[in-house]
Amino acid sequence: MDARCYVDGAWVGGDRWFPVTDPASGEQIGRAAEADVTLTAAAVEAAHRSFGSWAGTTAGERGDILREISANVAHEADRIVELIVAEQGKPVSQARFEVSYAREWLDWYAGEARRVYGATIPAGRHDKRLVVQRRPLGVAVAITPWNFPVAMVARKLAPALAAGCTLVIKPAEQTPLSPTAFIEAAVATALPPGVVNLIHASDPSSISEALLCDPRVRKITFTGSTEVGKALLRVSAGHLPRMSLELGGHAPFIVFEDADLEAAVRGVLASKFQVAGQSCLCANRIFVQESVEERFTQLLADAVSGLRVGPGRLDDVSVGPLIDEAGFQKVERHVADALAAGAHLVTGGSRLTGGDYDGGFFFAPTVLSSCTDGMLLAREETFGPIAPILCFDDEADVIERANSSAYGLAAYVYTRDLGRAWRVSESLEYGIVGVNDPTPATPSAPFGGFKESGMGREGGHEGIEAFLETKLVSFVA
Ligand code: NAD
Repeated sequence: MDARCYVDGAWVGGDRWFPVTDPASGEQIGRAAEADVTLTAAAVEAAHRSFGSWAGTTAGERGDILREISANVAHEADRIVELIVAEQGKPVSQARFEVSYAREWLDWYAGEARRVYGATIPAGRHDKRLVVQRRPLGVAVAITPWNFPVAMVARKLAPALAAGCTLVIKPAEQTPLSPTAFIEAAVATALPPGVVNLIHASDPSSISEALLCDPRVRKITFTGSTEVGKALLRVSAGHLPRMSLELGGHAPFIVFEDADLEAAVRGVLASKFQVAGQSCLCANRIFVQESVEERFTQLLADAVSGLRVGPGRLDDVSVGPLIDEAGFQKVERHVADALAAGAHLVTGGSRLTGGDYDGGFFFAPTVLSSCTDGMLLAREETFGPIAPILCFDDEADVIERANSSAYGLAAYVYTRDLGRAWRVSESLEYGIVGVNDPTPATPSAPFGGFKESGMGREGGHEGIEAFLETKLVSFVA
């Protein structure tokens, strides 16, 4: 596929393109048009020009368009799924889930557009009235990662359009094809030209300034690594755009001795091995209470060794490849460091080669026991199919260790003791806590992190608030 840019209602593909490869084979599967500074500025200009009329539509009209986009995406689902599998590597079932999850965001915000309310406030004088209005911010820039290439675009596009903002979207350079197919479906609706614009860049720093330092850009919504999120905050600080940052995670997954251990193992599989462990929400440190550590480790090892690894397009595959060589090397480094520091390899632990694995970045799903807090994998986001087990004594011990991280996105607690569930979930410094629930994210609820996992929330009413400004109108009559 040729993924072109989409600016001011026209598809643009110039002389310069960059290749897109399949992480399962290393083969080129398409290319994307390279946006330069001029095209980036044109996209911002188009979004700026169309803002007034888009903001002037009714909430019902914007909701209708979001529903139309959702219907078009459903119609194009097979093609979008195929592109996600080809460029991202995840299994078909997970790509299908991603597309339906993306549609949930569109459908939910189609309704939420109608629930943007203002307020009237009692004034201190008889002849005065105070009215609080909510106004769309203006042009929003959306920068998205490669692990959920379509869902992350939908998670930003849906609330932005519902609020009345216009958009310039820049997907990750590793996965430009499926977001382009998604935008093709989106713009084949009554969406006016200029409201949604799409640009691609193999080196995002080359267009960063044009995208982030333009004073017409009033909102930046970014999902990606903490390191890049901080850099974007610094670059754009000059004109103070509103920022939403959804950044890295380092989720503790806590299994108490009273937990349903089999449910906890299913929870680790769902949380840790989706997208080959390349998810911001995925369990990164599995804390298991000492008295059940041996049994839990055995149950987990049995389940993990049954996972089928391979190219996502093959039937029954549940773990695909890692995205690229850099991601692969980080996983190898974390495993080597843990083993050198005394971790015990229970299953997996190395690169998979030969047959379907040749040319791809396949790492065997791995369980490591006897891990400790000083190891690299207990301090950094691994972003791979590695399940490190760390042992703990009691509630106080595990809460302190779980919180001892600069990240604060998601945490999980498995227990059958209701009092403990409340105590521990309230003590965890995380934006999302799943109690006996490995998949807590949903469009209707706020999603985001404490500490260095980000700023602001996507999802729920807070997700549309992030694209709104508050205006006080004070009347004297
Ligand atoms: P990344 O930070 O490398 O890239 C994210 C996006 O930023 C990409 O589109 C990239 O092109 C762009 N980018 C990079 N440098 C830029 C620059 N100088 N100017 C403008 N844009 C720039 O992250 P990634 O490797 O694509 O994604 C993985 C990270 O994303 C992980 O840390 C993961 O935890 C995080 N993530 C967070 C969430 C969340 O909701 N909190 C969701 C998914 C992924």
